Amino acid sequence: MLQKLWSTKIQFLKGVGPANAAKLAKLGIFTVGQLLEHYPRRYEDRSQLKPIAKLTDGLYETFRAVVVNVSELKSSRGLKIVKIAVRDESGLAQLSWFNQSYIKNKYKPGMELVISGKIQRRMGAIEVNKPDIELAAEFSSGSGRIAPVYPATEDVPQWQIRMLMQQAADTFQNSEFADQKETLPADIISYYKLMNRREALVSIHFPANMEVLAEARRRLVFEELYLLQCGLVYLKQKNKYTCSGVKHAPDGELVAKIHKNLPFALTNDQSQTLRDVQTDMEDTTPMQRLVQGDVGSGKTVIAAIALAKTVENGYQGAMMAPTEILAEQHYHTLAKLLAPHGVRLAVLTGKITRRVRDEVLYNIKEGIIDVVIGTHALIQDDVEFKHLGLVVTDEQHRFGVRQRARLEAKGQQPDMLVMTATPIPRTMALTVYGDLDVSVIRELPPGRQPIATYSRSNDRRDKVYSFAVEQIKAGRQVYVVCPLVQESEKIEAQSAVKIYDELSATFFENLKCGLLHGKMKSQEKDAIMAAFACGEIKALIATTVIEVGVNVPNATVMIIEGADRFGLAQLHQLRGRVGRGEHKSYCILLSDNTNEETVERLQIITQISDGFVLAEKDLLLRGPGQFFGTNQHGMPDLKIADIVRDTGILLEARRAAQQTICTPEYLDMVWQTLKSWFGEKFSMVFCR
Ligand code: ADP
Ligand code: MG
Repeated sequence: MLQKLWSTKIQFLKGVGPANAAKLAKLGIFTVGQLLEHYPRRYEDRSQLKPIAKLTDGLYETFRAVVVNVSELKSSRGLKIVKIAVRDESGLAQLSWFNQSYIKNKYKPGMELVISGKIQRRMGAIEVNKPDIELAAEFSSGSGRIAPVYPATEDVPQWQIRMLMQQAADTFQNSEFADQKETLPADIISYYKLMNRREALVSIHFPANMEVLAEARRRLVFEELYLLQCGLVYLKQKNKYTCSGVKHAPDGELVAKIHKNLPFALTNDQSQTLRDVQTDMEDTTPMQRLVQGDVGSGKTVIAAIALAKTVENGYQGAMMAPTEILAEQHYHTLAKLLAPHGVRLAVLTGKITRRVRDEVLYNIKEGIIDVVIGTHALIQDDVEFKHLGLVVTDEQHRFGVRQRARLEAKGQQPDMLVMTATPIPRTMALTVYGDLDVSVIRELPPGRQPIATYSRSNDRRDKVYSFAVEQIKAGRQVYVVCPLVQESEKIEAQSAVKIYDELSATFFENLKCGLLHGKMKSQEKDAIMAAFACGEIKALIATTVIEVGVNVPNATVMIIEGADRFGLAQLHQLRGRVGRGEHKSYCILLSDNTNEETVERLQIITQISDGFVLAEKDLLLRGPGQFFGTNQHGMPDLKIADIVRDTGILLEARRAAQQTICTPEYLDMVWQTLKSWFGEKFSMVFCR
């Protein structure tokens, strides 16, 4: 009897030799267990067979028909096309395959088939390209009416995965094997009325009906989210009970002075966040707090006071920002708030000279510097602190978790404050930052005017730029952001240069323009940024390097070229670069894209100014994978759960995980399972 079916090599199944095993390996499938966890992407409900005449264009449908003719032609470009004509009482349909000659020998006139595929109606004629086919005789004797559809590849066609899955599921269901235990505690299964694991793993592939499918899916989604939450809860607890960090004293003179001298009163949300931070810092447990605040909500001042608090207690503070521009900006802001009260600050970026750097490093090591602000330069090995008490990272999603951890490792369990201006929908925050405490600054400081936002097609470009020129003549400044070119900073830079050349020869002819892109040297970038900040440059043409945190209050117009290429969250970030001063500000989105979804997305941002609401919409529109545009946010690809659709289950799973008292053996199982699911991403989320 097979003892370890789950971890048995996939070759165990009939029909899998070395060649097929290699193909399956490309899908990440090496064992029977991994095959069973290769979940269907969708299902075809075959209980409703339609006559050919009623098939709908664009839908995946299933119908029963008889072969009337099989032929092969050659296209003008030399492709071989197999065509099979089929019919039922209501009409005819054409099935076609490219370069798959073997198909023509498989089917003969008179055979009765069940055909599934995407229907294309072309001037009344029905065509189906690369359909899935079963012999009608086998179809009627087959068990399932709901057929799974898998993520397949050229190499491993749909029918093959189905066949292997059927075998695996049958064996799995029937054999007595010891290795695949229930992953969820018995009381949780019964409390949440969950299907058992074995049944769920079979039913997710071959459900008896839609109700069973829903239960199987619910069970597996729950399992995935529950184990993930257990991992996160465990991390948090471990941190709470085993680490003793820096215990800061209640606020003293320095903090009081800085607080009193702020040029404004804190908003309610800022005050609450500050109280959260202070409470955390005064506790022995290391603080692990995420502050989420929309652009311009005033996060920097929170960081300033927290840094003052650690300094007041005799420790050093470090703040890490993702770009040099931002690091310097923070340095200036913090210096203004803290230096008058005797706090000694330094900035550490990649561009400072060796000599200055050595001096700064020495001062940090000796404790002569209280607060250092920098970029990645801060996490170099030779940066040593005397006694680091607080680490602040700004715009966290730009840093990998590992980078954050490296900075933390420079102290003895320093407190940690993570600030992000990308509002993250709650469900996502729970999944990615489940181990962090969260404070939210929703409220903007008083007196901010909403930024008038418009979406315009390129035939209005003249008007848009004339308006920009008017604003410049009235003393204001303008940003122009060039289309996003994903994955290629080089092409993006080229397009920025082109737009810069065009604009400075036309609309902005007699005005001082600046160009900013990712391929420029940091010194050049800084010079341009400084010239824009002091008002010398009137129009700044830039790529998304200006996306994060830049603060020039006199800038009132943000023009975004090719706005359709950006996600809502990103557009909102860009828009946040204006509306930072006393003047009315404008954001104009240029796009000729007429795709319905795109138009809707651009429409949404003209109407909504709340970054949190936008983030929720963005997640809904683009799905979790696309949400941040890149992988850097450390969000693992979930196997089956969809955090938009499965919010309810997520909340249940989270509650359940918090109530579970995990034994070391159980945690070990959780760890191993998560590792096998998430692979590389696992260490991004969990190895801190
Ligand atoms: P962000 O959250 O985007 O980092 P900042 O900290 O840069 O925002 O703050 C944006 C601007 O708002 C700054 O010029 C800051 O001085 C100002 N600001 C912050 N808090 C307040 C407040 N409570 N009242 C008025 N202005 C504030
Ligand atoms: Mg900021």
